[in-house]
Amino acid sequence: MKTVKALAGIVMGTIIFAFLYASVHAETTACRTCEGVTAGSPREVRIEYRDGTVRAVCGLRCAGAALAAYRDKRVEKIRVREHGTGNLLDAAKAVWVIDTGTGAFEPFSGRQEAEAFSAARGGRVVNYADMMAAVFSSMGDRVRDMKPRIGVVTGDDIARHPDCLYCGMDRKKFAFSRVLLKYSDGTEVGLCSLHCAGLDLALHPEKQPGQIFAGAYDTGKLLDAEKAVWVLGGSKYGVMSLRGKWAFETRDAAAAFMRDFGGVPSDFGAVMRAAYEDMWEIIR
Ligand SMILES: [Zn+2]
Ligand SMILES: [Zn+2]
Repeated sequence: MKTVKALAGIVMGTIIFAFLYASVHAETTACRTCEGVTAGSPREVRIEYRDGTVRAVCGLRCAGAALAAYRDKRVEKIRVREHGTGNLLDAAKAVWVIDTGTGAFEPFSGRQEAEAFSAARGGRVVNYADMMAAVFSSMGDRVRDMKPRIGVVTGDDIARHPDCLYCGMDRKKFAFSRVLLKYSDGTEVGLCSLHCAGLDLALHPEKQPGQIFAGAYDTGKLLDAEKAVWVLGGSKYGVMSLRGKWAFETRDAAAAFMRDFGGVPSDFGAVMRAAYEDMWEIIR
């Protein structure tokens, strides 16, 4: 019996070791965030952490998602491949061309190269911080492309998802800011806030969002996020974020909130974009 147990231990140990080995080494072969593109591609972004580990991701949006989701990991350097030469550059020191009409963000080792590219192909020459702000601002765009409604939420979403998948916060306590994300494949994720919903959307570019629900600030009722009346900002602190983003069922309820706490009337696309912009403000 003892030998069987010892053998089982060795087998389990080997499996765990193989799994850990594979997961460490997978970093250099596929995007860890979307797992979509192999390393060495022109869009590869390498996040080098202070602890010596490297996360290779397929592009800047996946890099942004990884930075926001694992912000307790200290970043040493982010390297990208220079447009044209493919040389690895320090992203923070590179000169960037954005808004080229292709949705791409192109890095160059020098201002001259960047300006020549911009003159020939269009786009603005910017620094790293402005480029990343633009990346985060664009991360909510796919919310616009959501497929037709997949129906209403049935049952108690807080009972099904008591804690936020990312930060672990109590969704009953944060019923006034909670989000329920339904993907077109029928899976659903429970989050505490738009911030954490934004993380899940960014970390899963391969999944098609179907419908997003948000808890009403005043009643806790789960609302269709696109139909809700939103208030952005105001004197109430946001949940996991800088600016508050609050959902209401009616214009009157939103107006009553704004009388007490300020903020501006908004819509779902705008608050989602603000959630990503705040993500960058927090980690920059
Ligand atoms: Zn990726
Ligand atoms: Zn959360």
